[in-house]
Amino acid sequence: MMTQMSAALVWFAGLIGWYIIRYPFARRAKKIRVSKSLFDWRESSILAVALLGLLVIPAAYALIGFPARLDRPFIPAVAWLGLAPLCAALWLFRRSHVDLGRNWSISLEIREQHALVKTGVYRFIRHPMYTSFFLLGLAQMLLLSNWLADASGLIGAGVFYALRVRREESLMLECFGNDYRRYMGHTKQLIPWIY
Ligand code: SAH
Repeated sequence: MMTQMSAALVWFAGLIGWYIIRYPFARRAKKIRVSKSLFDWRESSILAVALLGLLVIPAAYALIGFPARLDRPFIPAVAWLGLAPLCAALWLFRRSHVDLGRNWSISLEIREQHALVKTGVYRFIRHPMYTSFFLLGLAQMLLLSNWLADASGLIGAGVFYALRVRREESLMLECFGNDYRRYMGHTKQLIPWIY
């Protein structure tokens, strides 16, 4: 049976899964030298916005019920639907980390001996990790029954994506030139064959 409490627990379990997937990559990344970094206040701010929308706001709702004024009715069938994007988000988050391997960074960085990855999930889309953020936001919307917590994940992911993607693609073009231009020519950004 799906109750409001079990839906919040499912959301929370998803976050734990998220952390467990990321942890070994974040640890390994510390040992790989960075040869060029665009990490600045702008990058920290957009990471903070994503964190606010996908973690802080839903956690405030799940833990202390804030803001209670914006609660919406809980519909078990809607919460059940949230399981699909949550599983898809976790799968894609892990796949994209595995495929990017040592080239992953939390920010916009080029590692020493950075290679352009065009295989695995990167064969179809250029930003699978960001797709997984949107899927997580969608799962959050379906699982949590509060208007603010529902909207904040997708807004956080959207702001993050809108402010990062152009800068990331320019960095890739600067480093990989025609190779990246060709890669852009036969891939989509977020959704295979569509967008
Ligand atoms: N935007 C990608 C990667 C996110 S991680 C995604 O959503 O899956 C961000 C880092 O990945 C950036 O520092 C960038 O240098 C690196 N990166 C992005 N696309 C890459 C690719 N195709 N090959 C290698 N590195 C890439």
